[in-house]
Amino acid sequence: MLLEDPSEKPVQSTPRAIIVQKFGGSSVADVDKLGRVADRIVAARRAGNDVVAVVSAMGKTTDGLLKLAREVAGAAEPPRRELDMLVSTGERVAMSLLSIAIQARGHEAISFTGSQSGIITNDRHFDARIIEVRPHRIEDELARGRIVIVAGYQGMSYRREITTLGRGGSDTTAVALAAALGAIHCEIYSDVDGVYSADPRVVPEARHLGVIDYDVLQEMAHAGAKVLNAHAVEWAKKSGIAIHARSTFEAASGKETVVRRAEADESRGVRAVSADRQVALVGLSGEGAEERLLAWLERAKIPLLAFDAQAGSARLVLSLISTPDWAEAKAGLAALGEAQVTEGVAFVSVVGASLGAEPEALAGFRRALATLDRAPQLVALTPVRLAVVVAADEADLAQRALHTALVESR
Ligand code: ASP
Ligand code: MG
Repeated sequence: MLLEDPSEKPVQSTPRAIIVQKFGGSSVADVDKLGRVADRIVAARRAGNDVVAVVSAMGKTTDGLLKLAREVAGAAEPPRRELDMLVSTGERVAMSLLSIAIQARGHEAISFTGSQSGIITNDRHFDARIIEVRPHRIEDELARGRIVIVAGYQGMSYRREITTLGRGGSDTTAVALAAALGAIHCEIYSDVDGVYSADPRVVPEARHLGVIDYDVLQEMAHAGAKVLNAHAVEWAKKSGIAIHARSTFEAASGKETVVRRAEADESRGVRAVSADRQVALVGLSGEGAEERLLAWLERAKIPLLAFDAQAGSARLVLSLISTPDWAEAKAGLAALGEAQVTEGVAFVSVVGASLGAEPEALAGFRRALATLDRAPQLVALTPVRLAVVVAADEADLAQRALHTALVESR
């Protein structure tokens, strides 16, 4: 933060504006890329900013560690606490290597884990929420002129246990730190140059979005769009931090997406389609089905995407991306009696400001889905989202049909 009154400036140095930069796993996948990221961080520091860089685990490290845990556990489920101890090492490898690379370039740097960075979470292992950030050590090191590298995706619970923030959680680390440090904004670097109206690999007509409102992107992220973590967007919204989503290695294109509070006329036009394939549809019927199903869900700690209840029956769409113990949860569900579990499905959504309040949009949505071979299973509406459960092998088709009908038509 810049001080107005020169007499208030600390004697040693003028505080510089802080920027937080986050680099995803693909940006640090090998030694060469890690070096290029180090160059970029040093350049930002030499441009006159204080820099905090949050880093994800290299490449597919997290998946590799989880696979190892499953192999070791055999038929049992690896306990979530131990998974946190395990996967949090991925980011520690990346943070220390990045700090070494920066120091090799002649700049002072220091790496910190999530707990050293003062990231305090609740005690929900593998899918924890940040409750407080106390970045004193980071502030001290910045004041010493150092670049600070932080391991993303992890924190420490108030019980002093290591926790992780759910898959893709390094984004949340970056935004929460940006807010706590009073950074001018948070830059999120990955292999894509921002947010598109659909995944361009699935929908070639997808449009690049220059500006997107927190609310719309948060819904997209909850709906399975992988560009940014939903909790990161929620945190940015709460603290008013703007996110600049950019490509790490194609910076020359100059393209980026700015995530901020958008004016009504800026966000009205923005619509996007996304699909989440890591989901399951769960149903229960019989006496007290709704309460029994929700009580089970609370015990199983699985994030809920949609809910539908009628007298004597209830259905849930569940997100499985940060649910490592799904097999155990399913066993608990079977014990409830008349439960139905449908896997091999995808949750396909169209998101846009006031979309759910436009009857023409809903009509277009239904017409587009009528082109699928199999009837959708559950329709969920919110003021900003129209969503449906389809067979996984029709998810791409559904996204293209919905993009044509509701995004390209405008
Ligand atoms: N490495 C973690 C993951 O793969 C966190 C992250 O990438 O943000 O989910
Ligand atoms: Mg990752």
